[in-house]
Amino acid sequence: MKSFRFRRPDGFVYKAGQYITVALNANGKKMSKAFSLSSSPTEKDHIEFTKKLTGHEFSNMLDYMETGDVADIKGPFGKMTFEGEYEKIALLSGGIGITPMISICKCCTDMKLSTDIMLICSDKTEQDMIFVEELEEMKVKNPGLKVFNTLTRASEEWTGCRERICENLLLREVPDYAERVFYVCGPPPMVDSMMEMLHNIQISDSKINKESLIGY
Ligand SMILES: Cc1cc2nc3c(=O)[nH]c(=O)nc-3n(C[C@H](O)[C@H](O)[C@H](O)COP(=O)(O)OP(=O)(O)OC[C@H]3O[C@@H](n4cnc5c(N)ncnc54)[C@H](O)[C@@H]3O)c2cc1C
Repeated sequence: MKSFRFRRPDGFVYKAGQYITVALNANGKKMSKAFSLSSSPTEKDHIEFTKKLTGHEFSNMLDYMETGDVADIKGPFGKMTFEGEYEKIALLSGGIGITPMISICKCCTDMKLSTDIMLICSDKTEQDMIFVEELEEMKVKNPGLKVFNTLTRASEEWTGCRERICENLLLREVPDYAERVFYVCGPPPMVDSMMEMLHNIQISDSKINKESLIGY
């Protein structure tokens, strides 16, 4: 994983949870991909996105960028946003789907909102867990932020949860789930299974915000 920071363009206004498209030129060819912003609107001097490096063409172009290089950025896009509208939220992230959740957590922390946030992150292995230190720092500043990690292919040393995000896990870790507005982000199959789970426990679509990271 690698985070990329660009100077925040003048007049670039966005909400926590939104995404941009990034276009790069290589060998006369223009390629564009979508990335959720992992920065928060409260960070005035830069915008940031975080990419899972795949070794593929666009990923390598980004990886080889140097300080001072430019990218063509469009946006912001997306409706999975949070600006303090709800008192209690639950953020369910799968893998790189944590990026917009980080933006939301940072924004709430910087704005000193009293929002009760339950962030549940599902990853495969310990190496896939990102923003661990940042979340620890945010938890110190923000008493409303709780984080729960689960790993589906953890090493033997992992003493934490090993379940996928499922009904059992949710009912156990988030007993007040019915009072929360949900945010779901991850690869499309993860988002689909979260939607099925939430519908099964009678959470209506009006209480669910989602973003599918198409491309994974
Ligand atoms: C709204 C939105 C937000 C997003 N936010 C993020 C984000 O925050 N961070 C992020 O990393 N991504 C995000 N994505 C996904 C992102 O746009 C890219 O699709 C993704 O990063 C993969 O791009 P890539 O060029 O590295 O890989 P690609 O070359 O597009 O490959 C994507 C996948 O396709 C398969 N694949 C493609 N070509 C091959 C091949 N030759 N051999 C084997 N397998 C192959 C692999 O499974 C690979 O992982 C987002 C997508 C959307 C729609």
